[in-house]
Amino acid sequence: SDLNLMGRLGIGPVGLYRSEFFFMVRNSFPDEDAQYRVYSQVMERCGTHGATFRLLDVGGDKPLKYFDWGREENPSLGWRSIRMLLQRPDILTPHLRALLRAAQLGEMRIVLPMISTLAELRELKERLHEAAVSLEAERGRKLRMPPVGIMIEIPSTVIQIDAFLAESDFACLGTNDLIQYLFAIDRGNERVADSHHPYHPAFLQALQRISEAARAAGKPVTVCGEMAADPAAVPLLLGLGLTSLSIAPAAADSVRESLASLELPACRQLVERVLTLSTADEIRRETRAFVEG
Ligand code: PEP
Ligand code: MG
Repeated sequence: SDLNLMGRLGIGPVGLYRSEFFFMVRNSFPDEDAQYRVYSQVMERCGTHGATFRLLDVGGDKPLKYFDWGREENPSLGWRSIRMLLQRPDILTPHLRALLRAAQLGEMRIVLPMISTLAELRELKERLHEAAVSLEAERGRKLRMPPVGIMIEIPSTVIQIDAFLAESDFACLGTNDLIQYLFAIDRGNERVADSHHPYHPAFLQALQRISEAARAAGKPVTVCGEMAADPAAVPLLLGLGLTSLSIAPAAADSVRESLASLELPACRQLVERVLTLSTADEIRRETRAFVEG
């Protein structure tokens, strides 16, 4: 349904395909062929524009009703996403094979969620390589390999950003989770998850660090998560040099309207001003005044 909406709104590439949604609406794990059927549809519809597929990001706020996670005190910090996948080759291997098969149909990129250490990144790349080698042996020809990037959504990846970028083809900035883990607030708990955090100087300094590192490394970064679709936050992102935004198709009109009214040099000056401020309240006020002109 999002692909139909994207077509109507003239949006080409899929900025973030959350593979877990397909898993969450089912009653059992889809096998390799069932996954391939879905991924290949996405690639056939938008493969020439490109689509970024995220590896299965289940657990925490994205449970599967047919999978027994065991009891965990802190599911958001627990055995989830790639942490689970790396220990379950029976789930990871068919997932990677289905993605690699669909990657032959167009411009696919693969992004790895919840990465917190270089060891995880290296291990997942190794598993992807193994899946490709076995598919190549079956098919008797070389596969087209998709670029591999990471979600920046855990603070350790920001601290070690240069090392992560050196081993990634691109990055997607997961603002929802980066805020959750940076401030130790549960993104699903309304009592603590207020809307101040995207304007917090600690968060904006983290974004600045990522943007500068990506420019120096020559690696593209796309901003994903709620912040990318918040017209009030867009001038901050642009001013920080983060000009690739992945948004829900339904937000396209409001984000386009906001983009049409902005000038890059003024956004950069706004960022220079807000980075001298020390609280989220001050930054939000300054940004609102800028947007309301
Ligand atoms: C994010 O964390 O910002 C993100 C894009 O992924 P999700 O909201 O699906 O966790
Ligand atoms: Mg996330």
